[in-house]
Amino acid sequence: MVLWLLKKVATTSNNMHDLSDPIISINGLGPKAQEKLNAIGIYNLEHLLFHLPSRYQNKTKFASLNQAQVGTEILVQLTIDRIEEVPTRQRQLLCYLSDEHNRSLILRFFHFNQHQKQQLTRGDIIQCFGELKIGRDGLEMHHPEYRLISKGQPTLLEKTLSPVYPLTAGIHQPQLKKWIDIALETLKKSNLIDNFENLAKNPMPTLKQALHTLHHPKIDDNIDQIANFRHISQQRLIIEELCAQQLSLLKLKNERKLKISNIFKISDNLSNQLSDNLGFELTTAQQHSVDEINTDLSSNHPMLRLLQGDVGSGKTIVAVFACLQAVENGFQAAVMAPTEILAHQHFHGFSDYLEPLGIKTALLTGSQNSSERHEQLALINSGEAQVVIGTHSLFQETVKFNRLGLIIIDEQHKFGVHQRLSLAQKAHNTPHQLVMTATPIPRSLTMSAYADLDSSIIDELPPGRSPIQTVALANDKKDKVLEKIKQVCAQNNQVYWVCTLIEESEVLRAQSATNTLEFLQENLADLSIVLIHGKMNKQEKSDIMSRFSRGDIDVLVATTVIEVGVNVPNASLMVIENAERLGLAQLHQLRGRVGRGSEASICILMYQAPLSSNAIERLDILRQTNDGFKIANKDLELRGPGEILGTQQTGIANMKIANIVRDGYLLKQVNYYALEFLQFDENQQQALINRWITHDKTQYANT
Ligand code: ADP
Ligand code: MG
Repeated sequence: MVLWLLKKVATTSNNMHDLSDPIISINGLGPKAQEKLNAIGIYNLEHLLFHLPSRYQNKTKFASLNQAQVGTEILVQLTIDRIEEVPTRQRQLLCYLSDEHNRSLILRFFHFNQHQKQQLTRGDIIQCFGELKIGRDGLEMHHPEYRLISKGQPTLLEKTLSPVYPLTAGIHQPQLKKWIDIALETLKKSNLIDNFENLAKNPMPTLKQALHTLHHPKIDDNIDQIANFRHISQQRLIIEELCAQQLSLLKLKNERKLKISNIFKISDNLSNQLSDNLGFELTTAQQHSVDEINTDLSSNHPMLRLLQGDVGSGKTIVAVFACLQAVENGFQAAVMAPTEILAHQHFHGFSDYLEPLGIKTALLTGSQNSSERHEQLALINSGEAQVVIGTHSLFQETVKFNRLGLIIIDEQHKFGVHQRLSLAQKAHNTPHQLVMTATPIPRSLTMSAYADLDSSIIDELPPGRSPIQTVALANDKKDKVLEKIKQVCAQNNQVYWVCTLIEESEVLRAQSATNTLEFLQENLADLSIVLIHGKMNKQEKSDIMSRFSRGDIDVLVATTVIEVGVNVPNASLMVIENAERLGLAQLHQLRGRVGRGSEASICILMYQAPLSSNAIERLDILRQTNDGFKIANKDLELRGPGEILGTQQTGIANMKIANIVRDGYLLKQVNYYALEFLQFDENQQQALINRWITHDKTQYANT
């Protein structure tokens, strides 16, 4: 306490500041304000500089009363004619003003004190700034900012536009303005590192210029551009922030490329055998991904590759080919799935491909009893199991691999980054990792949030698929849906009916799956209809899924447990209840459960009218396209990057100035500059990163 007092006295006595000084060194800024500003990430004077105005006021000239528009904010200089206190129920102070042409304006105060009233003297010159309103007796302003010029108060007239800052509770506009002005004064004299100054081909303003312009734009600066975040000074900052973001990820990528991993000698032996057994040819995109993966695996640096492909594009088989290379080189591969059902399905799928080649698989899930688990752990530990499929339980301490060389993570969006990395620590050399995602990620997000990964994209579906027709139907059209189900089942195809809640809930208007089951059983008496939901035990769920796969069940009534990865090609109709309540990505995932066979498939999105405009947009885009990348872009637009990536992902969801959706058009430039910065020395790179990325955001990368 004493210390900061001393420091404060010292700094205020000579009034010299440094941008790195803590804000408490500002005269008149006390511990309480400090705490409040710290809470919004402002610790030193430099941070104040990056707290940008949300809008501006024009106090650069006096308006004349006969030209000013009602509803706009204006600055006027007038004479006081008289003062009146109105004795209504709520007392009011009225101050009548006029200009030299006798046009009048009334100032109206609902709160005032006697001192204030006495200050206002007839004949005085007063300057007022506020919104012009129209009242019963003509033009008015309520509680304007005002100065009594005749009493020697300084003018309100400004040379530049005046900033209005976003506030935090307990901090007032004039205070914040004053403190930021101190930071701006300090900026004038300081040498704030301008990371972009030394870049060739950089047509942008310096950081100093950009900051001064944004805090105090000149009257001829383009305010519309600023309001739309398209001003070159904003672009200067946005590009720098995105650049810092990308640079930090690119550095991670480079660090990874310095690590040593096992070199796999790529062989055709097992791959050719698998190809012979497949019964189909890989698509060009699949083959391309296999090649890219093989190139990574044959280097002595760890692979970290994102394999993106729409639902049904055939990512699994690409993963199987990668496993073969691990096995051929004497390593184990671990395949991790986000749900128990999917782990089981992968186990069967992988085993079907691998066992004919003499490769031993193991399965590890949370629901196994202890003897099962023991048995599988022994297989994994001895190395007898060459490919291990599992859920999160693969992460546990007790799981000891013999020679783990490759990790494959399916449906990446269900996993946090921490989990991805903790599995990586199970091997002596950093293992190669392949991360598969069925939620295509918009390119702008890949570049900004996943710049640390390499990426392969499967952008075509296997041949012979007929596109899914998607229709939206209001809940009162259930008859039509029943008809459709009968038709589909008469042709020996199967149906998914997805409910979004297990229990009835009045509030959410959600259909309970149990009610739906009964409803369907009553109306479709000839069909075999079975319910599956998340609260069933694992064995039950797995049995039901097997029966559905075999075709023993006509209609599977499910909660969203079937969302991820389930593959039953004979299912050709998907009904989704309460579709208006689900996100685009989730709906697209669900819809991807059909359209996997040669049969023309239909997806019916049922909704409760009336729909919000956002819901209409969401359902429309699904009806218009089956292209997961287009849908992902729309999702990004509607929900923003934070929602799509999940909270534990990188800092791109809460950047200071940039917004990946709004500023996507700048990414090409960002990319260019980020690569330039990679050539700079370490200190310069770190300075850029530190300015924009707080420590806790990058921490995950080092765990
Ligand atoms: P996803 O990318 O959603 O994980 P899957 O790997 O489950 O897709 O594949 C979906 C279906 O497509 C599976 O039945 C698979 O056997 C089949 N498939 C994959 N690749 C091809 C191909 N090149 N030609 C024909 N069918 C394929
Ligand atoms: Mg899959």
